[in-house]
Amino acid sequence: MAVRGNSIIKGIEISEIINLLNKAYADEWLAYYQYFIEAKIIKGIMKDAVIAELTLHAADELRHATLIADRIIQLGGSPLLSPQEWLKHTNCGYAEPKNFDVVAILQDSIKGEQCAISTYSTLADIVKDKDIITYNMVSQILADEVEHEEDLQALHDDIAEFVLDLKKSIG
Ligand code: FE
Ligand code: FE
Ligand code: MG
Repeated sequence: MAVRGNSIIKGIEISEIINLLNKAYADEWLAYYQYFIEAKIIKGIMKDAVIAELTLHAADELRHATLIADRIIQLGGSPLLSPQEWLKHTNCGYAEPKNFDVVAILQDSIKGEQCAISTYSTLADIVKDKDIITYNMVSQILADEVEHEEDLQALHDDIAEFVLDLKKSIG
């Protein structure tokens, strides 16, 4: 653990930051896997566009997991070492896909992003003015999650509108 680097943290226990980061770390792995498996099992209209987005998001979530693991280690902690721990510590849980249709998959994913936005917004509030490095990292991740929600919602709305128009034209 780097002594001077961690001496700039004020007004919060480092162990508390590590615990909160590990919960977010669990979320990121579960989000990664959710996108990974959704991109494989998805069915229905315009699915290729959705698969492309899900695959990009999976890569982003894995990158977030990497950032968080590195920060936990900098703080002298240990990232969760077993996948069983992910389900114990997650904030947002894991939404096993039950309905493989594009619209249902998008709705599940949007819910996940909304939970991620709430989680990182809360985390940013907690470390603000206390741990500037974690704050900056969390802010960057939060911006990605906001973009993820928007991307998925836009796709969802395009597909919903397309299906509606199609139904009208068929009569
Ligand atoms: Fe993420
Ligand atoms: Fe995300
Ligand atoms: Mg995107």
